[in-house]
Amino acid sequence: VQPPPSTLHAFRAAVRRAPDRTALAYFDARLSYAETDALSDGIAAHLAGHGFRRGDRAAVMLQNTPHFVLALLGVWKAGGVAVPVNPMYKSWELRHILHDAEVAAVCCADRTWDAHLRATAAETPSVRIALTASEWDLQTRDDPRVLGAGQTPIAPRLGAAGTSIGPRERADDLLTVARTAGRIRAVPDDPELTADDLALISYTSGTSGTPKGATNTHGNISYNAERQRTGHDLPEGATYFALAPLFHITGMVCELAACIVNAGTLALAHRFEAGVVLDAFLEHRPAYTVGPSTAYMALMSHPDVTRDHFASFQVMSSGGAPLPPALVETFRSRCGTYLHNGYGLTECTAPCASVPPGKEAPVDTLSGTLAVGVPGADAVVRIIDEQGRDLPFGEQGEIAVRGPQVVPGYWRRPDATAKALPDGELRTGDIGFMDAGGWLYVVDRKKDMINASGFKVWPREVEDVLYTHPAVREAAVVGVPDAYRGESVKAYVSLRPGAEPAPAELAAYCKERLAAYKYPRVVEILPELPKTTSGKILRRELRHRA
Ligand code: ATP
Repeated sequence: VQPPPSTLHAFRAAVRRAPDRTALAYFDARLSYAETDALSDGIAAHLAGHGFRRGDRAAVMLQNTPHFVLALLGVWKAGGVAVPVNPMYKSWELRHILHDAEVAAVCCADRTWDAHLRATAAETPSVRIALTASEWDLQTRDDPRVLGAGQTPIAPRLGAAGTSIGPRERADDLLTVARTAGRIRAVPDDPELTADDLALISYTSGTSGTPKGATNTHGNISYNAERQRTGHDLPEGATYFALAPLFHITGMVCELAACIVNAGTLALAHRFEAGVVLDAFLEHRPAYTVGPSTAYMALMSHPDVTRDHFASFQVMSSGGAPLPPALVETFRSRCGTYLHNGYGLTECTAPCASVPPGKEAPVDTLSGTLAVGVPGADAVVRIIDEQGRDLPFGEQGEIAVRGPQVVPGYWRRPDATAKALPDGELRTGDIGFMDAGGWLYVVDRKKDMINASGFKVWPREVEDVLYTHPAVREAAVVGVPDAYRGESVKAYVSLRPGAEPAPAELAAYCKERLAAYKYPRVVEILPELPKTTSGKILRRELRHRA
């Protein structure tokens, strides 16, 4: 099936096919496709009315709420490029992104605006338009600010909460604008987006340094969204649950865009909080979700979890971060569900390899690594040496990807583009191998390799062993300076509730199962490991701590 040129085309088709179907479900509130269309028209009209032109950039800095989707569609309808920004960003990262993308508009929560975005936007001359949304801090369902069962439906409530915010400098309320601008001003013309138009500038989450903006085209997104639809074989109108944040490429493509292509319902729950998410699973009975492995660890460790929470799912996927084989097994035995692995990068517009339906990813007998999947139909994945030459099956090298989901480059960074994408082939910076059956395995990030007395140690292999210990909840392994070995292996772990093994016991456990140069000489127990808001464990931060 030929994918539509853009997600906006797919959205318009869904509005025509099923105007009354629920597009967005947020606690007990619902917005139909027709309502979502009208509200996003209002945002597009407001942007256009304030001089926002085709190709202009708008930062969308919101959690997983309906506002995110309305803002994104509004930007696309105005012919603009969305710059999804992590709402947790505060300082230099935010300043860097607003300046680098030269954004004309910002859409954020009112709290974010008041706390720091107003000041940052004031320092950024390109910012001319600000839209703020009233969000609720959804820590628990008992919080009176949460939209609980039996309360007023979403549209008046969102409006009421939004308009109750006091006057603010240069910012308009997103939902008031959405409800009025479309009516006052004419709805902007269809921007007639093509597959080559930029849809997003996605700044890498910076686990490895200064964020660079990957330029995802509408065609990149549309291709991968369509592949998700056909790959998972979900029925039209299925419910997708947004476990991964929508500001991250995984959530944007596998949840939001794939849901739109399928004219489905996207169920949202603000941000990840295990108890709230488990409640939402029972309420919305979703068929599909994807999130980082850390989210599944948290769901599985929640005291209220039952198998029934997962009964509605046709596919649950883990993506964007390593999936320890031990987690797949524990998740299956406790929750009754198979966790699909999937491999992707921002530069591949989310997945470029996934586990085909009805199959289970094999574990490599030699290294104990779980396969990440099989490359998608049009993605050409090669394992290459330093000179870019193909390596045979089973041999480790850098993973390189070419295909319709690979970005054309980085925003205004020809140097970085030439380095990461020679001839349009993406050098992922990940080390991996392929088996003869076509399964792809990711060993680790090239830059995370530990050199202990000249021996290569891949942190993920050590982490996979730690995850087989029943007391371990999260594990991360880093190299620390060592006067004798150059670097030595150190592990950080957080424990399951009630578990109390001594660090030396965990080190001994690894020593029994790994070659002598690989086991962690030091294990440090932390209450929680540092993570990005997309749920990835930040080895970099631990390295600095060591
Ligand atoms: P950086 O800022 O360094 O680019 P990032 O975390 O922001 O990193 P993303 O595009 O979000 O970049 O993540 C892509 C990376 O996540 C991949 O390069 C790979 O290292 C890792 N990854 C994704 N999926 C998997 C998987 N299934 N197994 C192992 N690693 C994975």
